[in-house]
Amino acid sequence: MAEVEKRQDRSPVPSAFEYATAPESRDIVRLEDRYGLFVGGEWAEPASGEYAPSVAPRDEEPLAEVAYAGAEDVDLAVHAARDAFTNGWSDLAPSERAKYLFRIARILQERSREFAVLESLDGGKPIRESRDVDLPLSAAHFFYYAGWADKLEYAFPNRNPRPIGVAGQIIPWNFPLLMLSWKIAPALAAGNTVVLKPAETTPLTALLFADVLRQAELPAGVVNIVTGDGRAGAELVKHEDVDKIAFTGSTEVGKEIMRAVAGTGRKLTLELGGKAANIIFDDAPLDQAVEGIINGIYFNQGHVCCAGSRLFVQESVYEEVLAKLKRRMGTLRVGDPLDKNTDVGAINSSAQLERIQELVASGEEEGAEIYQPPCRLPEKGWWFPPTVFTNVAQSYRIAQEEIFGPVLSVLTFRTPDEAVEKANNTPYGLSAGVWTEKGSRILSMAQRLRAGVIWANTYNRFDPTSPFGGYKESGFGREGGRHGLEPYLTFDE
Ligand code: NDP
Repeated sequence: MAEVEKRQDRSPVPSAFEYATAPESRDIVRLEDRYGLFVGGEWAEPASGEYAPSVAPRDEEPLAEVAYAGAEDVDLAVHAARDAFTNGWSDLAPSERAKYLFRIARILQERSREFAVLESLDGGKPIRESRDVDLPLSAAHFFYYAGWADKLEYAFPNRNPRPIGVAGQIIPWNFPLLMLSWKIAPALAAGNTVVLKPAETTPLTALLFADVLRQAELPAGVVNIVTGDGRAGAELVKHEDVDKIAFTGSTEVGKEIMRAVAGTGRKLTLELGGKAANIIFDDAPLDQAVEGIINGIYFNQGHVCCAGSRLFVQESVYEEVLAKLKRRMGTLRVGDPLDKNTDVGAINSSAQLERIQELVASGEEEGAEIYQPPCRLPEKGWWFPPTVFTNVAQSYRIAQEEIFGPVLSVLTFRTPDEAVEKANNTPYGLSAGVWTEKGSRILSMAQRLRAGVIWANTYNRFDPTSPFGGYKESGFGREGGRHGLEPYLTFDE
């Protein structure tokens, strides 16, 4: 009421902002009806003749037909990559290699709107995120590794770093262009050539990236893109002329890949699942912490391997944090990924939606209490509302398994020891968050949490200079930073 009284015209003050729709135009994206495989700098028909549409999660609209690569196609792509490696790329002056990477980075910046719209169309993530996170970070990765290309001897002094050869790279559907950049930029900077396999549900930005490579005049065969399903990935993994496999995806497939590569002497890095603990101490700035919780789990619909999907709140502030969290959840706008006001977009595929629904049902059956703010979901497409579970026991599936959706499980603790014990009680070890005003507590928690990345008083922040990767079933090897070059190099040991 105090606010109403302050207004001179005495009109009522709205209790919440109403937002008109603000759709981003999709005209900037020009899609072909059908895409082949990008091999040796040319578009090629798949030997199988097999194509399937890539579909927009927001309304199930088929966007373009995409080729499905088989063993023969993967073999051609690996040959093209080997040829490019031996006949020029690996002998190119490192400063020349750097020029190509700088060019790619600049072109990504110039065409960022086009890529952002396509990423949101094909994957379902809000345009605000693809525009402000995925695209700037993708360009930043190319800029960053361009800088290292001619300084490898300084990055690894007295070790004579040399490229390994052909890298086979398999990426998931949650950050299609960003994962492409995380993989391709360090591989090229180190002097390798690449065969990349994008995820079946999100191949379109990788195919548009092939156009960037042509624009940058990257020599033919240095990067080859083979689309398709898991079969193409499996063919790439078992190909004998691939020197290194880099995989990001599920722990299950990661284990299969590890079995296939075992004993071959080929290099392997795995970036797999997570079930991160986001830990709120009672001395934390609670309003900021609530923003961190929201960003931790509802960013990219929770399709994030490092999502803060297990929230640990100190008992003394539990009620207060829950109340603030539920209030904030009520302001999240779920809907069209191309609307600039959207906070939570569409679920990437019907298969992923089913998986989320199944795990959420298990949470209710096991006895957890569910809360979802009132929100109207679009009729077409795949959607799931922001969800929080309380009364969660550590043994419940929703506290153990990666849901990979907008679903948060809340648990409590009393002492730092208990928080560490519970946070580490998971087969995963990718990331964690700690919220407290005490620097000493941040440091002691960071030392005791078994996670590759630990955020302090923030969450889901990424930077190309900072290594990212996990422990335990979250995989091994690091991407980003100087560490991210190492798996793409061989050394005098
Ligand atoms: P996958 O691990 O199956 O997919 C990741 C990539 O691997 C895709 O390009 C996929 O191709 C490819 N692939 C699939 N099978 C094989 C194989 N046998 N050999 C080589 N490559 C293969 O993840 P899903 O898409 O099936 O998602 C399932 C669950 O995995 C999710 O619910 C989520 O929990 C988790 N996940 C975790 C991710 C992370 O970053 N931690 C990322 C993605 C998923 P294609 O997509 O064409 O089948």
